Amino acid sequence: MSSPSAATAAENRIRAEVGRRRTFAIISHPDAGKTTLTEKLLLFGGAIQLAGQVRARGENRRTRSDWMKIERERGISVVTSVMTFEYGGHVFNLLDTPGHEDFSEDTYRTLTAVDSAVMVIDAAKGIEARTRKLFEVCRLRDIPIVTFVNKLDREARDPFETLDEIEKTLALDTAPVTWPVGSGRDFVGTYDLASRRTRLMNEKGEDHRDEIDDAALDELLAARHLSDKREEIEIAREGTARFDVQAFREGHLTPVFWGSALRNFGIKDLLDGLGAFAPAPRDQRADTREVHADEEKMSAFVFKIQANMDPNHRDRIAFVRLCSGRLQRGMKVRHVRSGKTMSLHTPQFFFAQERQLAEEAFAGDVVGLPNHGTLRIGDTLTEGEDLTFVGVPSFAPEILRRLRLEDAMKAKKLKQAMQELAEEGVVQLFRPVDGSPALVGFVGALQLDVLQNRLEQEYGLEVGFETSQYNMARWVGGERQAVADFAAANRSALAEDVDGDPVLLSSSGYAFNYVREKWPSVRFTDVKEIQ
Ligand code: GDP
Repeated sequence: MSSPSAATAAENRIRAEVGRRRTFAIISHPDAGKTTLTEKLLLFGGAIQLAGQVRARGENRRTRSDWMKIERERGISVVTSVMTFEYGGHVFNLLDTPGHEDFSEDTYRTLTAVDSAVMVIDAAKGIEARTRKLFEVCRLRDIPIVTFVNKLDREARDPFETLDEIEKTLALDTAPVTWPVGSGRDFVGTYDLASRRTRLMNEKGEDHRDEIDDAALDELLAARHLSDKREEIEIAREGTARFDVQAFREGHLTPVFWGSALRNFGIKDLLDGLGAFAPAPRDQRADTREVHADEEKMSAFVFKIQANMDPNHRDRIAFVRLCSGRLQRGMKVRHVRSGKTMSLHTPQFFFAQERQLAEEAFAGDVVGLPNHGTLRIGDTLTEGEDLTFVGVPSFAPEILRRLRLEDAMKAKKLKQAMQELAEEGVVQLFRPVDGSPALVGFVGALQLDVLQNRLEQEYGLEVGFETSQYNMARWVGGERQAVADFAAANRSALAEDVDGDPVLLSSSGYAFNYVREKWPSVRFTDVKEIQ
């Protein structure tokens, strides 16, 4: 038994570690600069390792795998990765979200594992379609947003116009923390509205951090015939809202930073802002209760599964987000869905280009757990308590196909491969209850290529796709008896997903509406919250 004072020391340690964690994602429209910003963020902290927490695992320097040829060929990011870095006393866990529209499902799930998000906006283009969509997901989950207006080194919109657009299109109040002095070739730097000091951009990048006061700025602007910028700053200082941390945490207001990821400018402002305002790990909702981040017992949920991070090892990594307590390497945990005990022999942290064994981790951290299919998306791990975190979503597919196998002798292998890939969340699998061949569901068209590619590379299976009479799938829910009656009457259109939950297959929206109207006591949903 540990003494009371030891318990207190452990509690204090957990509280301190949790308090310095900032777990966030970047949301943006493709091309706004997310990749560039990510690289620059890592540049400030990526090289620094968490002393004492990790042990290098020599050969695994290549996190990104070879099978992702698609990624290279098409120049888009297919995998969600996580990167941990330390800066200014804070531990930042940056969960990267795939930029391509087709991979929205992974992106949405990633957003269940963050406590805040950085919204990157192109200074010339403003709010674009995908940014708005991702913002809406954040809003649904009350995720506070920090805004970074990027590409100020190019011609940009008037900054007031940009703020106005955020307020109008997203119904989100803005509070500029810094202000851009000029743009494009006239981009001088950023003005800190609170300290009234200007940080000048220079060729060495922001590490150099030259700061000047108002008098020096007046001189500089006069010399460059930019004196009107001075007036603009005054208007911004007088006329814009001050930052209010509570409104930000509640999701009503966003602090706004300006810069140029490419020129390495404004990144530190952003990091300082995240450290100062972004929330530490939040409490998480589970089926039986709320779990507080600084509770002593470890708990975590799986939000992503990824296979073949390293083609030499054919491993499968479950990414878990810690919700409370301290994870220690080697500890035994309860896998709540199966009720079984698991040992965490090789939990891993991910750094920019490598992964390392995690000796310990705290709420807000994301660790990868290698496993052979035991862990599924939405699963909960605890130190024994029977609770399940809620809210990790699955989305109804937009595309349904049947697979055509080139070599019929390999049917059994295909069945196994599809089960594995469905559990991993790569595709969804619907097995009609009448025993007809399974349908494969895709949330976006690019997923078809990914599936084809992976079946070939990893399982040696060549497949083609065939359309079926079904174009829609909806999860079926409601009172047990109502669902049972519905299932009995609609057997031919009923399927089960990988978890055995009932799904209605329809040929069209029209056919679906017909069924829905006929069965008002049954609930049909296009999002399944994995429980
Ligand atoms: P992503 O699709 O959001 O990840 O965007 P990238 O980071 O790949 O950037 C898209 C393009 O914009 C690339 O050509 C970048 O070099 C460029 N870019 C990114 N940030 C800046 C910036 O601050 N200024 C300028 N001029 N170009 C940028």
